[in-house]
Amino acid sequence: MIPITSKLPNVGTTIFTKMSVLASEYNAINLGQGFPDYSMDATLIALVNEAMQQGHNQYVHANGLPALREQLALKYNYIYGSAINATDNITVTPGGTYAIYTALTAILQPGDEVIVFEPAYDCYIPTITMNGAVPILIPLQYPNYTIDWQLVQQSITQRTKLIMINSPHNPSGAVLSENDMVQLQNIVANTNILILSDEVYEHLIFNGITHQSVLRYPQLAIRSFVTFSFGKSYNCTGWKLGYCIAPTYLMEEFRKVHQFNCFTCNTPLQVALAKHLSTNTDYNQLGSFMQGKKDYFETAMAATKFTALPSYGSYFQLYNYSAISDLPELEFAIWLTKTHGVTTIPVSAFYQTPTNNSVVRFCFAKQESMLAAAVERLVKI
Ligand code: PMP
Ligand code: GLN
Repeated sequence: MIPITSKLPNVGTTIFTKMSVLASEYNAINLGQGFPDYSMDATLIALVNEAMQQGHNQYVHANGLPALREQLALKYNYIYGSAINATDNITVTPGGTYAIYTALTAILQPGDEVIVFEPAYDCYIPTITMNGAVPILIPLQYPNYTIDWQLVQQSITQRTKLIMINSPHNPSGAVLSENDMVQLQNIVANTNILILSDEVYEHLIFNGITHQSVLRYPQLAIRSFVTFSFGKSYNCTGWKLGYCIAPTYLMEEFRKVHQFNCFTCNTPLQVALAKHLSTNTDYNQLGSFMQGKKDYFETAMAATKFTALPSYGSYFQLYNYSAISDLPELEFAIWLTKTHGVTTIPVSAFYQTPTNNSVVRFCFAKQESMLAAAVERLVKI
């Protein structure tokens, strides 16, 4: 073996892969990794097929199919009143993860500090450290996973380059309020701090709550990269297609990195989505569909010894298991898979700081029959 220096010496395989492998090994019902197990919209599949048949099989523009970017600009104007230019402010990417990686790589310099809230989606911290920057970890307040803005203010230094936010939040399902956005706006006013707002679950929001996109706040939007995923909105996580929205000066840097990384994304998917977006603008329907699943699962889970924590959005709901076991979260999740055939994700996996609230994450983006089968097993514990 030739000696190399790892860029990520403390990182192994992600918890999502680990738990999915364990689930298939033990033939468990996989409510761990976040992906739907039901079919996506058949008309959207037909549109992809049609695009391929019509010959849309070569590279499109590196920034994304112009017709798709036009539809996205119209969408954000329509839903958030946001003036976005399709030419300058949107780049289509191979998923939300890639958009986050590209944005951070475009702007971080060694020694820059990035404020990240824990629990944090798994790619955030490795992406910061791979760029030589330093994550400054701020805990969200258990059990509602809210942000202590005073703590954020106290954590700002001369080196703070970026604050990362994620609403609706993975893993907790917490959502940011208008007051949160105003607090954030006040903290960054008169600073050079940038924002990365991960909004992949923008439409998967419940109880009629309004998604507080950064795009609604012009004072935030002028300093933000906002990242999205078609996979989440259209039940096709395997498509791995997303996009980033940013003001021109930030997008110019984003595109410099993007053009040497993947250069351009899957063409037929973009042709299909451009058509789909032009006729499907009922975004609330996406949230009510997912809320139906959450409500179904939560009602069934009431018969178990698990205690629900509130979820206001995303694919996920957290449950406290302290009435069942005092095992640490990872051990509990492994035990649950092996002994009771239901796979979850330990929330401690989203922390660098050792944490144990006896909480695991369930993904309810599944067929009701699957959710019912899982609860049937959990009720016996
Ligand atoms: N951010 C969050 C919070 C996510 O949960 C996910 C995926 N589950 C992503 C980003 C990445 O999305 P994609 O699969 O499009 O890369
Ligand atoms: N985002 C999904 C989750 O939180 C998983 C995506 C992945 O496996 N990287 O479960």
